[in-house]
Amino acid sequence: MAKIILTGDRPTGRLHVGHYVGSLKGRVELQNSGKFDKIFIMIADAQALTDNAHQPQKVRENIIQVALDYLSCGIDPQKSTIFIQSMIPELTELTFYYMNLVTVARVGRNPTVKSEIKMRGFQASIPLGFFAYPVSQTADITAFAATDVPVGEDQLPMLEQCREIVHSFNSTYGETLVEPRIILPENKACLRLPGTDGKAKMSKSLGNCIYLSDDEETVRKKVMSMFTDPNHLRVEDPGTVEGNPVFVYLDAFCRPEHFAKFWPEYKNLDEVKAHYQRGGLGDVKIKKFLNQVLQAELAPIRARRKEWEAKLPEVYEILKAGTEKARAAAAETLYAVRAAMQINYFENK
Ligand code: ATP
Ligand code: MG
Repeated sequence: MAKIILTGDRPTGRLHVGHYVGSLKGRVELQNSGKFDKIFIMIADAQALTDNAHQPQKVRENIIQVALDYLSCGIDPQKSTIFIQSMIPELTELTFYYMNLVTVARVGRNPTVKSEIKMRGFQASIPLGFFAYPVSQTADITAFAATDVPVGEDQLPMLEQCREIVHSFNSTYGETLVEPRIILPENKACLRLPGTDGKAKMSKSLGNCIYLSDDEETVRKKVMSMFTDPNHLRVEDPGTVEGNPVFVYLDAFCRPEHFAKFWPEYKNLDEVKAHYQRGGLGDVKIKKFLNQVLQAELAPIRARRKEWEAKLPEVYEILKAGTEKARAAAAETLYAVRAAMQINYFENK
């Protein structure tokens, strides 16, 4: 069976370092591994509209921002197909049929849906489209017959729900859809990067992000004002490493060679952690190091972004060509789905 990747992001803002370690960096590695037959990367504007229906301009503007972020991180349009979700009506049609295979109660139990409803303050006024987004995600994944879905940890419940719908479809209408598996980052710190404010998740909607496109000075300021251990008041106090966002970021980003280069007093992160835990190491020193580590990672991304920003028409061409190619693939699946569901009335005379 062909190995196919489907993954994507909502154009609700520029992409941040949480996206980068949680999914984007891994995608580039998978792309360059040569182990996959096809890679589809979706800019999920239709999904973004489920909770931004009244801000179409925001979604529209961020399509290009997300595309620039992809290209600057090393997504190669020769190897990966980047496309825009709403331009593929086959996805909407699949969603409509799959909705019959899921109960309202089941979606209501989806932990990610639950926490996102809370985070967005929807409570009693949940847009129906937003509530249905796990089903629309199933349409996105199955339309491309994806076998692998590299995403952050918050997407685990979505993948479970997708697999259930696939089972239900295949057992009702006959073996048609491919069951996907999730690819999570191996590094635990990357599963769900916290916000600079210490909140559990860095998220565009929470405004606690370091963006891939932030300039050097903005990144430095954000790092220097990051939340750390609130009980570590004086340098000599013992500090807590677990759940301290500065250390989570270091776990996610720093590599042994960074010490030789930026902080030769320590050999590795374990030594820094031990010093912090016993007391005597101030937050400012650690933040300065983190800033250097982040700048080293972000500098080449920033430079590539500048190059792509200078040729926006080419970026639009990439999106257009990618969308055409993706649409053809989704149409094949829809064709098979309609046949399985016996709603291909004019096909079989
Ligand atoms: P929004 O607030 O609009 O939902 P978001 O920041 O959650 O935006 P998404 O577009 O929903 O971003 O997520 C895109 C991908 O990035 C998903 O695979 C998701 O799992 C991953 N991701 C998002 N935030 C993080 C994070 N803080 N740490 C690790 N992965 C993340
Ligand atoms: Mg999200």
